[in-house]
Amino acid sequence: MWNFEGKVVAVTGASRGIGFEIARQFALAGAQVGICSPHMDRVEKAAREIGGDIFTYQADVSDIQQNDAFIQAVIEKFGKIDILICNAGVEVRKPCMEITPDEWDWMFQVNTRSFFFGAMTAARDMIKRNIPGIIIGVSSVNAQTVVPGLSVYAATKCAMNHLAESMSRELGKQGIRVNCIAPGSILTDINRHIYCIPENLKALQDKLPLERQGTCEEIADSVLFLASDAAKYITGQTLYVDGGLTLVRG
Ligand code: NAD
Repeated sequence: MWNFEGKVVAVTGASRGIGFEIARQFALAGAQVGICSPHMDRVEKAAREIGGDIFTYQADVSDIQQNDAFIQAVIEKFGKIDILICNAGVEVRKPCMEITPDEWDWMFQVNTRSFFFGAMTAARDMIKRNIPGIIIGVSSVNAQTVVPGLSVYAATKCAMNHLAESMSRELGKQGIRVNCIAPGSILTDINRHIYCIPENLKALQDKLPLERQGTCEEIADSVLFLASDAAKYITGQTLYVDGGLTLVRG
């Protein structure tokens, strides 16, 4: 459907789930793709499953140096970066009263800080090479919904959406577009323990206007759309890909 031949794409947290599918679809569309995760064996396994010439790198994006090193390594390998997808994300599901400062820091470091500083590293190189770059953060429907147990996770995603707005204002003049995709409920390892319980799945399906969870493919489709020329006038937006979940209150 899309053609990304000649484009270089970096995807964080692509060893499985949504990030894996985003990397796979960009590779299928002809892009040169670099992927990272904290575990080299997992990221190499993902690259083998995708097939072709995928560049793999071990990086824990909660560490600014490692996050930066991944993007620099992609640039070194392929000579530039056109598209950065900040997908890596973690959540700690706990009541507010039980969240520790370390859990707060971890969620903000992985989800939010890596997006901002990764975007800055990529943008510096895009500007240097005069590339009309694209930066996309994988946010969440939880930036709008209010779910007990997800207070800090939701805050990290709200911050991502606002950062996309601020960065897009500052980087637009250099031709760089910055957006977020906010998935609804997609069955992956992040929530499998919840939705393997039939009652939980049924309650979710009953609530959803489209009456089903989404798929990693559907999120990747929307990411490729946002990264394509079909979206060349879209910047500073968060695109909710959620089967209507944000319409449901209560
Ligand atoms: P997942 O747990 O299956 O995958 C998360 C990926 O991030 C893995 O590849 C993991 O290795 C990587 N990762 C985690 N910590 C990392 C770190 N410190 N450094 C580098 N990589 C790291 O979950 P997923 O559902 O595929 O989540 C992908 C993104 O989508 C996340 O940002 C998540 O918040 C977001 N999201 C998911 C859903 C959903 O329903 N699945 C909904 C909304 C948003």
